Order: sequence, then C-alpha cells, then structure tokens
Amino acid sequence: MNGQLCCYDCGGTYETDDRNRCSCGEPLWVETDPTDFEWPDAEWSRGMWRYADVLPVSEPSGVPPGTTPLVRAAGLDEYVGCSLSLKHEGQNPTGSFKDRGSAVGVSVAAQAGYEWVGTVSHGNMALSTSAYAANADLECAVFVPADTPRERLELIARHDPHLFRVEGEYGKLYHETLALETDVAFVNSDTPLRVAGQKTVAYEILEQCSPTTPDAIALPVSSGGQASAVWKALRELNRAGLVDDVPKLYLVQAAACDPVATAYREERATVSPVTADDTIAVSIANSDPPSGTRALAAARDTGGEVVSVPDAEIRDAMDRLSTTVGVSVEPSSAVAIAGIRTLSQSGSIEPDDDVVAILTGSGYKERYGTEIRSLTIDLEGLERELAAIVD
Ligand SMILES: *Cc1c(COP(=O)(O)O)cnc(C)c1O
Ligand SMILES: [Zn+2]
Repeated sequence: MNGQLCCYDCGGTYETDDRNRCSCGEPLWVETDPTDFEWPDAEWSRGMWRYADVLPVSEPSGVPPGTTPLVRAAGLDEYVGCSLSLKHEGQNPTGSFKDRGSAVGVSVAAQAGYEWVGTVSHGNMALSTSAYAANADLECAVFVPADTPRERLELIARHDPHLFRVEGEYGKLYHETLALETDVAFVNSDTPLRVAGQKTVAYEILEQCSPTTPDAIALPVSSGGQASAVWKALRELNRAGLVDDVPKLYLVQAAACDPVATAYREERATVSPVTADDTIAVSIANSDPPSGTRALAAARDTGGEVVSVPDAEIRDAMDRLSTTVGVSVEPSSAVAIAGIRTLSQSGSIEPDDDVVAILTGSGYKERYGTEIRSLTIDLEGLERELAAIVD
C-alpha cells in the first residue's frame, strides 16, 4: 500500500498497513497529499481509477466501479423541499457503492501477496467483496448473520466465496475478525482501504457539479465508513483548492436503529451502542457503528446534522423514487431522501438549496412486497380492456 495511516481525531500516524485503529481507539484512514490534485483528463470509462493519483494502489484489471450518473430529479423537488440531485450508486458493478472500497481493498491484498480476503456483511459488501476477489483470483471468506435471507445468499454464492453464516451477536463479528491471527486480509466496512476507495464517490459528485458546488450531500449511515469517506474527500478537495465552500453533510439513519443520530440529538461527544428494533433498512442496521463517532464529527465539522426517519417514511420515499423518477433503490438508500424531507420541514434545508442524495444501492436485488396492480384478460378482449383504461 502507498500512504501512511492517520487518525482524524488525535492526529496519530502509523507506517504499518495492518492496523485499522489508532491507539486512541478511533478508526484510521489513509493519508494522501491532495495539494497538486486537479480534475483528471482520464477517460470516464476508467471509472473511479480516474482518481488513481489519490488512491493507495494502482489500477487493477476488471470492471471498474464508479463514474455513476449524477442526475437532477426535479420531479421530487416539491416532495423533498429543495433542488434535488441523485448520485446513482446502484449502477456500480454489483449494485452498490461498496464496489469502490472492495476494488481498493482487494487489489492491495492481491498486490501484497495475500491469497485470501474476507469481510463481515449483511449482504452488499459480501456480494461486492466476493466479486472483486473472483476477479483478482483470491479466495474469499464471507461472514453473514445466520438469518440472512436466502435471496441475498444466492446472489453472493454466484461468486463462490466461502460463506459462513454466523449465529450469535453480529455486532461483535466486526471486531473479532479484525483481531484474528490469520492470513486473511479483512476489508470490513470502515477499514482504511475501504474508506480510501469509497471517497471517490464524493470526488465524482464535486467534479460532476463543478464549477458550482452543492450546498449539501445527504447519505445513509450504518458503520459510518461511507460518511467518513465522503468527509475525507471534501477535506482533500478543499485542500486542493477545488472546493471552497464545503457542502454540509446530512447523515440519515432509520429511527429503529439510530446510534449516531441519538448521539447528535443528545449533543454527546461520542457514539454509544443502542438497542435496535427491526427496520426495512436492513443494510444500515448497525447498532454499534465502528466509525460512528467519526461520522458524528463529519456532520458537525461541515455544519450538517444527523437525523433519523421512521420506516413508513423510508417506504414512502422509496416508492416515490420508483414512481416519480423511475429509480429503484433499496430501503437503506431511500433513507437519504426521507432525511432531506425531514430536514426541509425543520428548516435546516431551504427551498433553493442544491442537495445531492447518495442512492447507495440498487432496488433490483430483492423484493419488497410491492402490491401488483394488474388485470387478467383474454386475447379477444385486448382492445376493449385497453380502451377502458386509456379513456
Ligand atoms: C453499506 C451500506 C450503507 C451504509 O454504509 P456504511 O459505510 O456502513 O455507513 C448504506 N446503504 C447501503 C445500500 C449499503 O450497502
Ligand atoms: Zn487517534
């Protein structure tokens, strides 16, 4: 790996690359020097590797993640109460932003001579890591909760990883796998290499908006890895002189499992675990987020906020995205839209604000119990039945 590891909180630095946390307890990220960075001339088809100058590994083979569309969604402006754009991360190779981090983490492991990579996941990261491991010809160990739905397991199994369904407290798995004495290179949710890859989503958003800058970016938060990555990118672009007014980061959680929002509401310095209820936003149901405190710092530092939204509002936002702008996302992604609406209602977001929502994952991986409205008709009745509806 190229680059030092650094702690956002105490400033501690480490030369070694097999460390994920600082001695102060906070997570580390890969320090990069962005001072000479400029928007690249490189081909859009190179995906996130257009930003190779600020990544800790050279470009591997395989389908590149990134360069996903940023689209205006004027049809939802009234619903969310501002000028809305969508960063469509569901268009990544395995359907979520996790590909950006997997591509970096798996490539570093391969170039360092590891034969195995591993991850702990509710689904998207397992799918993504398995796919990138297959491309790099590495073995892959995937740990999922024992009750992970069969439809998710089947998608993951397509890439033929070694799948472990773990009984017991899922929250502990993250820490236990990173503490193992093993030859498996773990690329968990907020590890430095994953954060390094995932920061490219914010590089793209800011480049796609250039020469203007959005007022805010809203995204869902689980481990806090993605929020950390976006924050890091904004700091780097600010240092490079490409972004003067750093967008506010609005972080959104499901009300049933909202440790970061709780700490924000209670004005606490750090995030503590919460007792969670079930939510339809399964991909963000982490009650003990390893980068929760760092995510909290990201929201505060940029002048943003952390809020949470109930399942009914998540569901409504997900349906609006499908029926109003034709974009299908999973519930965990719709959380960002529901959060923007809440922040407009409270007055934090104003009607002429330009806000980008990161739609983290595709809605084409599972079913959500959508009501099917249909008519069964005879061939002879075709014209009559159609006319009855069209008129
Ligand atoms: C992983 C994931 C998130 C949460 O990201 P963190 O980095 O864990 O905070 C949000 N949405 C989707 C679809 C995800 O897969
Ligand atoms: Zn530290």
